Amino acid sequence: MFRRVLIANRGEIAVRIIRACREVGVEPVVVYSEADADSLHVELADEAVCIGPPQPLQSYLNIERIIEAARRLGADAVHPGYGFLAENADFARSCAEHGLTFIGPSPEAIRVMGLKAEARRVAMAAGVPVVPGSEGTVRDAAEAAAVAREIGYPLLIKASAGGAGRGIRVVRDDEELAPALTAAGREAAAAFGNAEVYLERYLEEPRHVEVQILADRYGNFVHLGERECSVQRRRQKIIEEAPSPALTPQLRQAMTDAALRIARAIGYVNAGTVEFILDREGNFYFIEMNTRIQVEHPLTELITGIDIVKMQLAIAAGEPLPIRQDDVEFRGWALECRITAEDPDHSFLPWPGAITAYRAPSGPGVRVDEGIQSGYKVQPWYDSLLAKVITWGMDREEARRRMLRALREFRIEGVRTIIKLQQRILEHPRFVAGNVHTRWLEEEFLPGEAR
Ligand code: ADP
Repeated sequence: MFRRVLIANRGEIAVRIIRACREVGVEPVVVYSEADADSLHVELADEAVCIGPPQPLQSYLNIERIIEAARRLGADAVHPGYGFLAENADFARSCAEHGLTFIGPSPEAIRVMGLKAEARRVAMAAGVPVVPGSEGTVRDAAEAAAVAREIGYPLLIKASAGGAGRGIRVVRDDEELAPALTAAGREAAAAFGNAEVYLERYLEEPRHVEVQILADRYGNFVHLGERECSVQRRRQKIIEEAPSPALTPQLRQAMTDAALRIARAIGYVNAGTVEFILDREGNFYFIEMNTRIQVEHPLTELITGIDIVKMQLAIAAGEPLPIRQDDVEFRGWALECRITAEDPDHSFLPWPGAITAYRAPSGPGVRVDEGIQSGYKVQPWYDSLLAKVITWGMDREEARRRMLRALREFRIEGVRTIIKLQQRILEHPRFVAGNVHTRWLEEEFLPGEAR
């Protein structure tokens, strides 16, 4: 195992990784920006180095400064968390070049899966269905028009290098196609440094279901079942659960098999998530693979009892997976609410500011992964996720009632949050019945935003 791990991240995920390090006897050290000097991850780490101003490009995205900090702190490995540099193949390569173990897959796996058009090819070659669409990236309007004739409208233009719900645009007819293609390419170049786009049929009311996998260096692969993330706003997840209420045992078997086929096809190592969308007829289609820890990983930890972050550390340290597929048992149900500092009454306006009072919920079956504390100033520079509340129950209904109870106890003052909206969602008969799709939240609660 490592002696010292540098966590190249902030907020709740940095805290989560610190906790895993402590439990396996590894010293956690962190980097922080000038805006984060008083943050929880800095307080909980053994040592911390300030790497620059608040702007992510000058701090959490600055490869050179992070590598330099890792060396100065005497770290032997780097955990990238999610977001920032977590899916940056250059960063993974740079760590290796400086003798630091990158806690994640190989730079090549990150690269292939980071280009979503390439990832589609990998899935197809592995015999996994993808959403009908272009074969690879589309070069021009004529090629796009030919694909559109085949798959019909509405369709999506997706940035190959896109992520986090950004770089996706809906096209409703022929007339919109050419201008949308130009705009999408321009936006993708600006946002992701890569203008390549591809087309997919826009499924009307899909559910988002993803499979967590683990793989070691010795060719052992296991899946830890699925999570469903269909309560979304603008393609971003707001409430997630595990297992998915939509899967039959046969469908679960088919989807977990498909996820493992994709992971094997690229010789994947470490933790990863294969994402699918599922239509009303029970057909599933690969959409992408995230080559990192995900925000909603605690759901799986609660229903399997497996600590995914500790598994990541062990795998990166060269240990073989301590479990086989038969050892993975699923028990009960878990729900997760992402508590963000946004005002749902005003188009989810981010709400930076000081937290004047803070008390997290607790009690039976409640886990809170947080990155804040009383007095912390929520920064405008970073994503607005403050904390995650995860509840476990013997069944879905117990987990749901626990979540309502936990959200009632949650006290956060000084900033607006989306807690009240989440309470309304959790009480809606469609959610109670587990009968939702990825556009349901917007249609039901945010009619001005439905597209
Ligand atoms: P990102 O990498 O930005 O998260 P994804 O490809 O994972 O993008 O898609 C994010 C979300 O967009 C999905 O969870 C789903 O809600 C929606 N989505 C993606 N592809 C399709 C599609 N072909 N049809 C309908 N919705 C889709």
